Amino acid sequence: MTTPVFRFAPSPNGQLHLGHALSAILNFEAARAAGGRFLLRIEDIDRARCTPELEAGIFTDLAWLGLHWETPVRRQSDHFGDYRTALDRLTALGLVYPAYLTRAEIAGAVARAEAAGKLWPRDPDGAPLYPGDAAVLGPEALHQRIAASTGHALRLDMKKALRVAGGPLFWEETGAGPDGERGRIAADPARWGDVVLARKDTPTSYHLSVVIDDATQGVTHVMRGQDLFQATAVHRLLQQLLDLPRPVYHHHRLVLDETGRKLSKSRGDTALGALRESGASPDDIRRMIGL
Ligand code: GLU
Repeated sequence: MTTPVFRFAPSPNGQLHLGHALSAILNFEAARAAGGRFLLRIEDIDRARCTPELEAGIFTDLAWLGLHWETPVRRQSDHFGDYRTALDRLTALGLVYPAYLTRAEIAGAVARAEAAGKLWPRDPDGAPLYPGDAAVLGPEALHQRIAASTGHALRLDMKKALRVAGGPLFWEETGAGPDGERGRIAADPARWGDVVLARKDTPTSYHLSVVIDDATQGVTHVMRGQDLFQATAVHRLLQQLLDLPRPVYHHHRLVLDETGRKLSKSRGDTALGALRESGASPDDIRRMIGL
């Protein structure tokens, strides 16, 4: 039997809060109960928002909670070459295209369509699906933009990717989706449209790096918040296209604020560091998150 491998994979673009504490503790305890390994991974591909100070804060907070993890810790910014290799593989399959529209242009195109009474399709996170360069810019302006080479994102051609992936995709869910889904879940990546695989200023994306890292690190159990339940469909598609193993997925409940919303990193009062400084103990944190 293979040793179960769990991971907690925060992004150092804000301070850890109570929601992160729940995820980290659940992973740590599940690994221990299964006689498995617990890894910590730093997801810092966004070089503009992630800082060494916030990364150091993650280590301090988790150690304070009584958790320990294997070293060395994998830091995504040390592995851009790995994501490039995967991107090259998807490109060789003909599944990647350059996308030139800025966020503002996408928003403008969607607003115009909606003002004209069209219902624009949105992904499970509520973001509008990509309208397509030629449709928004027109062939002339698109040509000029390509010639000016001001940079572009790389997107997955979803329709083609689904054809290449072949049969239906699924995952094994041992936690629960937002509607209580569990067991064998049919993945429907098409709902996400042509997802971004690399940005103008970031040579990879969350979806791409997370599947590469989970495979590289031999992660067998992905335990994370329910807000990432739907994203699993994209992860399954990329795993299939890149011949990567399929981990078991366990999406856990979220810690909500008093208005019923997911905690955000910009809210200081649920940050673990602030709670510690105001005298809370690790046991208090456990009580606050219902453990
Ligand atoms: N880095 C992601 C976050 O902080 C989590 C990724 C994952 O667990 O798959 O939300």
